[in-house]
Amino acid sequence: MRIEIRELGRTFGSAPAVEGVSATIEDGEFICILGPSGCGKTTMLNMLGGIIAPTAGTILFDGVDVTKVPAEKRGVGFVFQNYALYPHLTVAKNIEFPLAIERVPRAERRRRVREAADLVQVGPYLDRRPAELSGGQQQRVAIARALVKNPSLLLLDEPLSNLDARLRLEMRVELQRIQREAKVTTVFVTHDQDEAMSISDRTMLMNRGRLVHFADPQELYDDPAELFAATFLGNPPINQLRGRIDDGDLTLADGTIVQGIAPAGLTVDAAIVGVRSETVTLASTAPRARARVEDLQYVGRDVYADVRLGDARLSALVSRREVDRSLVGTEVPIGFDADGVHVFDAESGRRIR
Ligand code: ATP
Repeated sequence: MRIEIRELGRTFGSAPAVEGVSATIEDGEFICILGPSGCGKTTMLNMLGGIIAPTAGTILFDGVDVTKVPAEKRGVGFVFQNYALYPHLTVAKNIEFPLAIERVPRAERRRRVREAADLVQVGPYLDRRPAELSGGQQQRVAIARALVKNPSLLLLDEPLSNLDARLRLEMRVELQRIQREAKVTTVFVTHDQDEAMSISDRTMLMNRGRLVHFADPQELYDDPAELFAATFLGNPPINQLRGRIDDGDLTLADGTIVQGIAPAGLTVDAAIVGVRSETVTLASTAPRARARVEDLQYVGRDVYADVRLGDARLSALVSRREVDRSLVGTEVPIGFDADGVHVFDAESGRRIR
């Protein structure tokens, strides 16, 4: 099912939880809503599901305005963080519950419960009660229950948060498989960037109720729409150099000049230049400035150099072969891959180039 969201908003009291969100989700897409706590993710999801009524804007399902259609008539399946299974019912009865409410004939109910259970691979546990299952198995049952009515939209709110780290990774892969097999348009809320980046076709990045950037994971990372997107995504966080840009040269507050970091001709009074650690090069053949290596951090197979450039501190991902401890305390020429340099307006956070 294709979903169109137009200028959607929701205000609680006087404070907007979601404001002016417009987006189109294509049929069969796996979408994540990502953002920090309180940015409006759950409110967005609940408006799509009909649990919360918008105070502005419209939602269309396959071209039909459903803004005022109640949850039970929208044909959506919900999965929550806490599973919300009925503890006194067996797995089979839990999955069957939505069909029983709709008075679906018995034989068909049985067939569909079996199908949904097989899809999420809980077939062997149909007679158990939720307490007799692991967290991962309980979450699978919750997903089966959400899919048993063949919803045209599957909504999941932090469904993996209660699982341990290893199981979370496993369930990401499983969820992708289930989603592809069920071919159901899916919207998944998470505050975990790795989860969103690994699981989604496209991610809606939200901040303070606004949709900041809606794109595939690669574009979100490589081509952030604004400073918030650049800083929210990535580990270690993107390096930030603050200062004035004059014809492509950046002057930091302490007077240090970084030559040609931005394109010639670009002048910005108050800029923040964002540079990812993997696009900083030490011992560069096209140096932009000189910088002092303060420390080397060995993280598994990666080495990060902590570098002081004027009044700024940068992290640079370097190759093990290029560096050793003797570099610490020395000055090196530093360069930047032009592709990895993003210039933002320091005041508004807007991307300038
Ligand atoms: P989290 O990741 O912490 O769950 P979220 O991104 O899902 O956060 P929402 O739950 O959508 O954020 O909340 C967005 C904003 O709206 C928050 O400031 C929240 O306090 C407010 N809010 C949400 N629901 C209500 C409500 N029922 N009444 C009043 N304010 C609300």
